[in-house]
Parts: sequence; C-alpha cells; structure tokens
Amino acid sequence: MFGQARIKLTIWYVGIILIISTFFSVAFYNSSTREIDRIVDRLQFEKIREESGMPSFRRPPGGPSIEELLSYKERMRLTLLIVNGIILLFSAGAAYILSGRTLRPIKVMVDEQNQFISSASHELRTPLATLRTEMEGHLLEKEITDQQARNLIKSNLEEIERLQGLSNNLLRITQVQELTNSTFEDISVSEVLEAAIAKVLPLARKKNILLVTKTKESIISGDKLSIVEVFVILLDNAIKYSPKKSEVSVVVHKNQKQVVIAIKDNGIGIAEKDKVKIFERFYRADSSRTVTDGYGLGLSIARKTIEKHNGSIQVTSTLNKGSLFEVKFPRIA
Ligand code: ADP
Repeated sequence: MFGQARIKLTIWYVGIILIISTFFSVAFYNSSTREIDRIVDRLQFEKIREESGMPSFRRPPGGPSIEELLSYKERMRLTLLIVNGIILLFSAGAAYILSGRTLRPIKVMVDEQNQFISSASHELRTPLATLRTEMEGHLLEKEITDQQARNLIKSNLEEIERLQGLSNNLLRITQVQELTNSTFEDISVSEVLEAAIAKVLPLARKKNILLVTKTKESIISGDKLSIVEVFVILLDNAIKYSPKKSEVSVVVHKNQKQVVIAIKDNGIGIAEKDKVKIFERFYRADSSRTVTDGYGLGLSIARKTIEKHNGSIQVTSTLNKGSLFEVKFPRIA
C-alpha cells in the first residue's frame, strides 16, 4: 500500500516539476530565438534582393550566416531537451526520496494504530474468555447452588469491571489526543493534588500507606480534570507498587519557570531496561505483573497529557527500593 502511494506521489512530484521546467524552457527558447528569427528573415530578404540583382544593404563582415543561425537554433533546442531530460531524471530520484520522507510519519502512525488495535484486542480477549469459560462451566452443571451462583456473578462482575476499566482507558487515549490549549484555564497545583489524593486515599488506607504531602502554591495553565487524572495515575501506581505500611510522598517545588511535582514511593522499583518502555502503551514490567492487575496504559496517558501541557515527566528508580516520578509544568505563578 505504501509502495503504491509512494510511486503515485513520485509521479505527481515529477509531473509538477516537468510542467514548470517545460514552461520555462519554452518561454526561454521563444524569447531567445525571436531575435535570431528576425535576423534570419532580414538575411533571407537581402539574399533574394542580391540574387535578383537589386541593390542590397551591405552585410556587416564576419556576421553569422543564415545556416549558422539556424544551426544555433537547432543546438539550443537540443540543449534544452537534454537539460529537461536531466531534470526529469534528477527530479524522479529526488521525488522518490522525498515522497518516502513525506509518507514515513503516516506509515509510523498507521503501524502504531495497528499495534494498538492488536494490543487492545488482546487485552479484551482475556476477560471475555474468562467470562465465557466460567459461564459455560456453570451451564454444564445440572444444578448450581445459591452460593455457586453468587460466586459466579461476583467473578463475572470483576471481569466486567476489568473490561470497563480498559474501555475507559481506551477512551481517555483518544480524548487526550484532542486536548488543545484553547480550553485551558489557570489551575492551582495544590488544588489538583488535593483532588487526586482524595481519589486514591481509600486505596492507600486499605494498604495502610501513609501519604505525605509538602506542597507550594503555584498556578499552571491546563485542563483541570486531565491534570487531576495525571496525579491519580501516578499516585495510584505509587500505592499499587508499594508494600503495605510504607510511605508515599508528594513534594512540590518551584523554580524560575517551572513547577516540579515529585511523587516518591518505596515500592518494587523499576528495572533499568523498563524505564523508557513503561511510558509506552500496554507495556508492563514483569515485576509488576505478579503484584497487581493493570493494562499498562496509565503512564502513556499521563505522559501524553503532560506533553499536551508543554510539560515533561521523568523517572528515577532502583529495583526493590522505590521510584521517583518527577512532573514539570511551565508555571504562570
Ligand atoms: P499499569 O500500572 O496499569 O500496569 P501504567 O502505564 O500505569 O500501567 O504503568 C506501566 C508499568 O510501569 C507498570 O506495569 C509497572 O511495571 C511500572 N510502574 C509504574 N509506576 C510504578 C511505580 N511507582 N513503581 C514500580 N513500577 C511502576
């Protein structure tokens, strides 16, 4: 498909270049030969007068003959043809390279989309298969007790919850792509952090994890709900990947241009080889798979959102010791 598109685009590029170069060649040829034609006409007129014995104007000595002028015209035509041929060859090569470059980002995007669809389908398959197997298994039973039915419903609900979580995440991915700063408002970092902490507090309490915050008032420009979501993702991860009765801290500090929000935990940590990959869609480090369920979408949503706000995110981590995620946003105040 891309090969064909590349050839088509090359033909278009070459066609356009050829039209332009032919137009200029014809214009150049016509303007250059107009004067030659005038001289040839005059020389032919004089020749006829001479041949018929009529008095003629004296030709300047050493001037070009009619044959020389006509051969000069012929040479010019040939030169222009060769030049256009060279332009055609050169432009075909250049257009082929250029069309490849033009199409490469589109190819990368389509490849990413395909990869995304296949990963999403893969993630959808697991809960759907579990739902089906469990229900089919119970259908085969002659009788099921009230308790068994309840257990089945409970397990089905867990799988449905998983599916809902996945579909919400998939939806968020497309929504984040559409974020534009035309809808951004001034938001207080402390306020969004407070909202995010309120959301993860039940999970922290469940694991007896202490949330320590040290904030500094600062204002950034952004989409409030999306920024809250970024901190929910980071705090949720910090809690998820930490042992019970540990500590997660949130520290805010400002420099001249930015506000830096650091979220630190004492959890399982991230191996060196995973540090870049964890921001990719559907990537989960092996160590985390055994700890908790997830889709590997949170950090990719967080990073995209942060980038849409002209910010950045980086991670420092030591395996089995803990991780530090630092988010930087340009600050207004
Ligand atoms: P999920 O948590 O659903 O797997 P994320 O995209 O939020 O997806 O995170 C991707 C991966 O990054 C996780 O699976 C985990 O391996 C790693 N990770 C993220 N945050 C932490 C953390 N605080 N400590 C250890 N590993 C983490």
